[in-house]
Formats: sequence, structure tokens, C-alpha cells
Amino acid sequence: MRGPPHALRLWVAVVLAFPGKAVGHLESLHCSIDRKRFMHVCVLGAGIVGLATAWHLQREGHQVTVVDKAAPGAGASGGNGAQLSYSYVQPLADPSIWSQLPKLLLATDSPLKLRPQLDPLQWRWGIEFLAACNAQTSRDSTAALLALAASSRVAFEAMRADIAPDCDFSATGKLVLYQSTAGVEAARRQVALQRTMGSVQQVVSADECIALEPALAGYRGRELPASAGARTDAQIEEFIRGHADTIYHPVGTCRMGSGERDVVDASLRVHGVQGLRVVDASIMPSIVGGNTNAPVIAIAEKAADLIRTGG
Ligand SMILES: Cc1cc2nc3c(=O)[nH]c(=O)nc-3n(C[C@H](O)[C@H](O)[C@H](O)COP(=O)(O)OP(=O)(O)OC[C@H]3O[C@@H](n4cnc5c(N)ncnc54)[C@H](O)[C@@H]3O)c2cc1C
Repeated sequence: MRGPPHALRLWVAVVLAFPGKAVGHLESLHCSIDRKRFMHVCVLGAGIVGLATAWHLQREGHQVTVVDKAAPGAGASGGNGAQLSYSYVQPLADPSIWSQLPKLLLATDSPLKLRPQLDPLQWRWGIEFLAACNAQTSRDSTAALLALAASSRVAFEAMRADIAPDCDFSATGKLVLYQSTAGVEAARRQVALQRTMGSVQQVVSADECIALEPALAGYRGRELPASAGARTDAQIEEFIRGHADTIYHPVGTCRMGSGERDVVDASLRVHGVQGLRVVDASIMPSIVGGNTNAPVIAIAEKAADLIRTGG
């Protein structure tokens, strides 16, 4: 390469910023950098990216002017609560996107806004994005994002040490809350994956969450007013007996199995009793996912065969 290192970096930045359009401008930019090593650079936008860029340019000796239409940090950099998360790298292109797709595309409060156009590039991008929503790509992206975040952390700490900003920094960690069990399970898988890459995070229970951040206590699922007085085991049992309802699908009181608490064997014979079988929904080891009528008919037909053949 001909130019000095800073010229190369700017060259790359221009190519990244204007993919496909930069080539026509490169020659003149390169020449002007070669002729004059130090420039007066105007950086547009005083968010984290603009200010970090300005700081680097200034350190390399350039004169820098930062222009912003609002106050510094008024954009996304302030909107994210000034948090610096180096381990929270869940890639967007992930297999979980497939099940979220209808909601992502159709919900009015979706963070994704896609306006379909007759533009082959848009459709190609969409197809390539969906093709990337697989486990291997998600793993590769996680590794790449973690590496990028680690180098970003080093660079940010260097900048912070240099400029010593007049503000407080707190390193208490980031607590991510999930509304559903499925969300927690997906996070648990990501945490396990990242652990293999050296990024250690912890999955905590609701109680541990509140111990870490007592302000969350008010958001915890509230106790039913009717059970408010029940504190001892006996009171809780009394409350459950008084309020619980089996509705229409009671099963499993004589469940099939070979354990100590199981009542019938695989031929529906009661353990330890001669000549007695149980044939109804009570032998189901667990409640079925649908209605109980058809499974009970199947149990009865099977029992008829067993009784007829002496099985
Ligand atoms: C709630 C939330 C959570 C986030 N969580 C994460 C996370 O966990 N991890 C992560 O990596 N990222 C996260 N982000 C994204 C991250 O904050 C942004 O990617 C980052 O702050 C972008 O920085 P920026 O400097 O490019 O943009 P900004 O901070 O938005 O700065 C752009 C600046 O440009 C100015 N500007 C715009 N147009 C003009 C113009 N025409 N003339 C002059 N000035 C102009 C704006 O006023 C603004 O000050 C989150 C963002 C939000 C809002």
C-alpha cells in the first residue's frame, strides 16, 4: 500500500460507508491525504461513534470539528441509557427468528419496519438474511460479535483513561429480564454457548433478580388477594383445597408405572392385588395435551384386548 496507515484506515472507512459508490471518489481522496498528512476533519454526529472517531482523529494529529443538530449524546447513544454491554451479543440472524417472523413483520409495535419494494436487492437481502437464520451462522456471529465487543472494550477503556470524562461509571453488570419461560430458555442456551467462548454470564431466578435489584420487587407477579392471608403450609393447603378446581380433565390418580407410588402396571393390573385392573383416565401417567375422551376409549379398547387374551 502506498499511503500512510491513517490514509488506509480512512480509505477503508469510505468504502464501508459508501459500498459500491466509493470507487469514483477514492483516487482524489487518496491524493489529498498523501499531499497533506494532517487534515481538518468534520465529523457529523456527536454520538458515541462520532465522538470516538473525533477522539481518534485528534490523537493522530488532525484538527477536528464535530457538528451535531442536537446536543452531544442526544441520539441512540443517550437513548440506550449510556450502557456499555460487551457480553450481550445475541445475533439477530438466529433460528428463533423463524417463529417470531409473523409478529416481527405484522405487529404495529414491531421494532422491524420493512416496506416491500420491487427492488431485487431488497428481496435478495431478505432471502440471504433468512438463509443466515440457522444455528451455525448464529454461533459464528456470536463468536465474531464477542471478539468485536472485546476489542471495543479495550478501545473504549483507552479513550476513557485518556479523556477522564467528568461522569460516574458503574460496573454492576447488566440484568436482562424476560417475560416468558421461552425467553429465559432461549437466553439460557445463548449463555451456555457464550460460556464455551469464554464469555461468562449467569442465569438468575426471580428471587435472585430482586436481591440484585430491589427496585424490581414491585414488578413481581402479585399474590392473589384471596390467598393473601395464607402463610403456613396448613393455611396454603386449606386455600388450595378451597379454591382449586380440576375442571374437566382429572387424570393420573392411579397412574401406570413401576415406581413406588405408581398404582397399575403396563397391563393395567393393580400392583400387589390379584385379579384387579383399573381402566379409565386415572391410569394416565400424566395429563394428555388434548381432550381425554379419545385416549380413554383407546385405553378401554386396549384393556378389552388384554382381558380377552389374559395379558
Ligand atoms: C434502548 C437501546 C438499547 C441499546 N442496546 C444496545 C446494546 O446492548 N448493544 C449495542 O451494541 N447497541 C445497543 N444500542 C444501540 C447503540 O446505542 C447505538 O448503536 C449507538 O449508540 C449508535 O451510536 P451513534 O453515535 O452511531 O449514533 P447516535 O448516538 O444516534 O448519534 C448520532 C448523532 O448524529 C446527530 N445527527 C443525526 N443527523 C444529523 C444531521 N443531519 N446533522 C447533524 N447531526 C446529526 C444526532 O443528533 C446524534 O447526536 C441500543 C440502543 C438503544 C436505544
